[in-house]
Amino acid sequence: MLNNFSYIRPKTLKDAVKELSAKDAGLHAGGTDILGCLRDHVFDITKMVSISGLKELEGVKGIADGGMRIGAMTTIAHVAGDSAITERYAALAQAAAEVASPQLRNQGTVGGNLCQKPRCWYYRGEFNCLRKGGEKCFAVMGENQYHCILGGGPCFIVHPSDLAPAMIALDAIVHVAGKRETRSVPLEKFYVLPVTDVHRETVLAEGEIVTEVILPAAGTITSSYRKVRARAAWDFALAGVALAMRFDKGVVSDARVVLSGAAPVPWRSKKAEAVLVGRKLDPAAAAAAAEAALKDAQPLAKNGYKVPMFRALIEDQLNGMVRKG
Ligand SMILES: Cc1cc2nc3c(=O)[nH]c(=O)nc-3n(C[C@H](O)[C@H](O)[C@H](O)COP(=O)(O)OP(=O)(O)OC[C@H]3O[C@@H](n4cnc5c(N)ncnc54)[C@H](O)[C@@H]3O)c2cc1C
Repeated sequence: MLNNFSYIRPKTLKDAVKELSAKDAGLHAGGTDILGCLRDHVFDITKMVSISGLKELEGVKGIADGGMRIGAMTTIAHVAGDSAITERYAALAQAAAEVASPQLRNQGTVGGNLCQKPRCWYYRGEFNCLRKGGEKCFAVMGENQYHCILGGGPCFIVHPSDLAPAMIALDAIVHVAGKRETRSVPLEKFYVLPVTDVHRETVLAEGEIVTEVILPAAGTITSSYRKVRARAAWDFALAGVALAMRFDKGVVSDARVVLSGAAPVPWRSKKAEAVLVGRKLDPAAAAAAAEAALKDAQPLAKNGYKVPMFRALIEDQLNGMVRKG
């Protein structure tokens, strides 16, 4: 059962930031994640601030330098179906199409997807785990088959968003509005590892709202996103990979390899990228990059299967680009 809270729907961004700055306030975008958190008492709030009245946060449009602006209240379904995104930022359109179910994509927003809470069953369940202020991570000795293999400790969640790895591969920047200022944060620097602060997932301060995501001009970029899940119906990624590559005369001139389902944050594998840049993309390069991406993996007792799964996924996805030429 939900605890009682008041519900307000400010008409301006300034008012929304002000209302959200109050103690125990929560932000409601599409509500598909926060209502579940409140129902399960992952955290409680006394005031819900809906930003659904802020029409300026909706929609996708081209910007002057050839890039694209995606409002935080744009639905995931819109992103999946937008022809300009599909054409120029394929990884993002593919990732959006892989999120949950049609109903959730119609209701869930880009901002909500980037800021959703982790799905660890101890965190979401009746366990006073580290992330909720308790003393231990129950996954370490517990049912850890869906937990992280990279970047873990002292908490071993995996970051749940499909959009975030694709956007990081595309060098996205988020704009954030707060009490005193608006600021820009590269999405790659938006997420916080548990070793830095186990009680937060993002760098957002109290009252701050993600207003939009900026994608730089795509130019000659080739990108893709693919995920493996436990079942064919809607599900979070067991393993996912976003690739964004540029080629110069057949040689990789720039590469982004970002993993989902691997780490507490979307995991950019600079080791895999270093293997790829400066050489022709062929099956040997794909295999070497996949090997490099998993070099530092430290699986827990029950998630060792993720290591060969990621290796195969990365290799296959890179070979897909070889086949397409
Ligand atoms: C059954 C199920 C399956 C799912 N499967 C997947 C999946 O496969 N892949 C995937 O990526 N996701 C998946 N999700 C998560 C889903 O995509 C998110 O619930 C959704 O994107 C959240 O968007 P929302 O607008 O409903 O957010 P809300 O529920 O309104 O908010 C989510 C969180 O983000 C914060 N927030 C929202 N907007 C902003 C903003 N603009 N600025 C700052 N903070 C903000 C809220 O305060 C809240 O804490 C699944 C969810 C469910 C319930």
